[in-house]
Order: sequence, then structure tokens, then C-alpha cells
Amino acid sequence: MTEPLFNRIAILGLGLIGSSIALAVRRGGLAETVVGYDKDAQVRAKAEELALADRVRKSAAAAVEGADLIVIAVPVRASADVAREISEHLKPGAVVTDVGSVKSSVICDVLPEIPDGVAFVPGHPIAGTEQSGPEAGFPELFEGRWCILTRCEKSTDRAMEQVTAFWRAMGADIDIMDPEHHDLVLAITSHVPHLIAYNIVGTAADLEKVTESEVVKFSASGFRDFTRIAASDPIMWRDIFLSNKGAVLEMLGRFSEDLAALQRAIRWEDGPALQELFTRTREIRREIIEAGQETAAPDFGRPHGSGDEAG
Ligand code: NAP
Repeated sequence: MTEPLFNRIAILGLGLIGSSIALAVRRGGLAETVVGYDKDAQVRAKAEELALADRVRKSAAAAVEGADLIVIAVPVRASADVAREISEHLKPGAVVTDVGSVKSSVICDVLPEIPDGVAFVPGHPIAGTEQSGPEAGFPELFEGRWCILTRCEKSTDRAMEQVTAFWRAMGADIDIMDPEHHDLVLAITSHVPHLIAYNIVGTAADLEKVTESEVVKFSASGFRDFTRIAASDPIMWRDIFLSNKGAVLEMLGRFSEDLAALQRAIRWEDGPALQELFTRTREIRREIIEAGQETAAPDFGRPHGSGDEAG
């Protein structure tokens, strides 16, 4: 237990990320009081049952009353509604932050709703799983993971420091990026890989009708790993693709060109080209393991520990 960083923290959206933050805050004693809110009555009831917060409120406005730190943890396209609902109820001097997987669009939606005297620090923890909902959360989710913070007009130095301290106390490392750069980096490291997984599992599902369940029966690790990613929350990912349209389309263009080059290498039996690429990609995996972002242990797709999938 450390000294509380905040008197009162309000967490809006109690799904995987919101509930993990709530659990990490309570475990670490990072706030005197944690107040939760979710628009879904069943989620609120579950949050109370799991004791995610000291209090669970029925409205975002009530939840932020008197809060020093407000964490918006809803699907990115719902951020604007939440910001509008809380705008007139924020305490002067409060800090608003978010965890959305896309930054430019969230800043565009939320910033106009932040009143004078309140700071806003857009954030994105690079940690998650393919699960969603309040029962999926666990307090260790952010340990050893990166959290990217971005600056906007309302990110005061003090608020940046407070949000940095908050994530560090939950075990995360901080990187600071421009929102546009964040969106481009995440498009290639997270968003396009998810799109590829959704696509390949979709294609195989269509094939399955032809091959009568052979796709499921003989799913080897490659396909099985794609199905894990493609099991990620449909609403969250719909919102990510619609909100990060420009960066995703740009990266998809690059991806398509490279895929065409691979197609050509196979057609012309260009073994050296294939081998050269596969050797380079193996090296990237080694670097990721060395950077502590993955373990080298084969897990054959199960069971998954903390934070191995992130939006
Ligand atoms: P989640 O488990 O689906 O939880 C989101 C929760 O927000 C749900 O309970 C949802 O209720 C609720 N919600 C939706 N609209 C709301 C509103 N207007 N007001 C209040 N609550 C609302 O999703 P998550 O994985 O925690 O993701 C939350 C955010 O974190 C997203 O912006 C996502 O991009 C970001 N993020 C996710 C990951 C990841 O890997 N999962 C990683 C990093 C960042 P309903 O179920 O009724 O819609």
C-alpha cells in the first residue's frame, strides 16, 4: 500500500479495462474512495457484487461529483457522450483521463467538453486480453506494460505528472507521443493485426460450411491463435476501426503491397525472398521477448496470463 495519490477516483465504464483499474487502485490504495459507473445495469450490479468500487452510481454525472481523477473507460465512440454527461459536474482542479485505443478522435470528441479549470490527459494502456466485461478484470493487467500518454491543449504539466504517477503506481511504464503518431503506431501493431484475424477467421468460417467442421477439428496453432484475437469485443473493435480510419487504411495499403510481393514470391518459387523475410520476422519476435513484452514459453494458445492482447 502506498499513500493515496487521489482523494476520489471515478471510473466510467466498468468493463475489462475499467474493472482492472478499479482493482489495481483498490489493491494499491491509490485513492481514498473509488466510485464506479457503467451505463449497463447488469454491469453495475456485477461491479457491486465484485466490490470493484466503494460506490457504484447510476449516472456518470453522479459518479464524478467531487472526484479528483476521472477515468473514461468506455468504447471510443461512446467517449463523447460520457464527456458531455460529466462536463458540468466536474470539480475545479479535477483531472480527466481516458484509456481509448485511438487518440486523435477521442481528443476531438472529449476536449470541447472539458471546462476551464479542469485538465485532460488522453491515455492508452497497451494491455488487455480478448475478454471483456467486469469479471474479466484483474489488478495485475498493467504490470510491466506500456501506457502511452498524449498531450492536448488541456494537459497541464501537473496533470501529466499526476496521471504518470497513477499509471506507474499500477506497474506500467510511460511513453509520451503525439496523438497522430500514436494512432499510426497502433494501426500497424494492433489494429491491422486484429483486422487480419477477423478476416482470416471469417474466411475460414465460410470455408467451414464447405468442409464440414474440418477447420475447427484440425485448427493448428496458427489459426487457433487468430481465433483468440478474433474473439475480441465486437463493439470496442468496431469503434476502433471507425475512429482510426485514416491510419488503418494507410497501413492496410502498405500491408496489401507487401502481401502482393509475397504472392509473387510464391508464384515464382522465390525461396530466398521468403526465407529472408521469415528470418527477419523471427528476429522481431526475439526482440519483443528480450524487451519483456512476451515470454518465449510455448503455451499452445492456453492459458493466457496478463495483458497479452491489447487494443
Ligand atoms: P469492455 O470490457 O467492453 O467495457 C466497456 C464498458 O463500457 C461496458 O460495460 C459498456 O457497457 C460500457 N459503456 C459503453 N458505453 C458507455 C457509456 N456511454 N457510458 C458508460 N459506460 C458505457 O471494454 P474494455 O476492453 O474495457 O475497453 C474500454 C476502453 O479501453 C475502450 O476505449 C478500448 O478501446 C480501450 N482499451 C481496450 C483494451 C483491450 O484490450 N480490451 C486495451 C487498451 C485500451 P455495454 O457492455 O452495455 O456496452
